[in-house]
Amino acid sequence: MNSYIERAKELKRSHNYRERYFEAKPGHKLPGTNWSFYFCPYCGRVVSRKKASVDHIYSVRKVQTDRALRAKFKGLEDGVNNLNNLVACCRKCNSRKGRKGGLWILRGKYGIYFMPALRVAVYVALVAVVWWLWQTGLLAELLPEASYLIDRYIL
Ligand SMILES: [Zn+2]
Repeated sequence: MNSYIERAKELKRSHNYRERYFEAKPGHKLPGTNWSFYFCPYCGRVVSRKKASVDHIYSVRKVQTDRALRAKFKGLEDGVNNLNNLVACCRKCNSRKGRKGGLWILRGKYGIYFMPALRVAVYVALVAVVWWLWQTGLLAELLPEASYLIDRYIL
């Protein structure tokens, strides 16, 4: 990597991007409390403001090493630390993402609009399946099988 890229301010992680993000996007507030939270755009979980980390959607490293991305971010206000390239997420997802691209980028940009709903839909579907198994009497048949398998292979 040449020294221009290493020195260019707009291509470097700024020292205050977290504070700037939290100030510009304070998240959701639970009414009547001081507790605020975000939805993680990668997994859809609720993450409290205190535990939220701020992720560069296009990672700093990725932008530095990709010519097209460099061109894209050079002209932007605050470069790679532009607010549109930052998102609050849970720490687990942040560390799993690292400098990955592809679907991670899509989820970083738009996941906030569907990952929480998707998570709720999965829970609802699970409850519906268990309810259906219970209604049809299959649950009673399956439980001894399941406990046998757990005894045999897991415990
Ligand atoms: Zn997450």
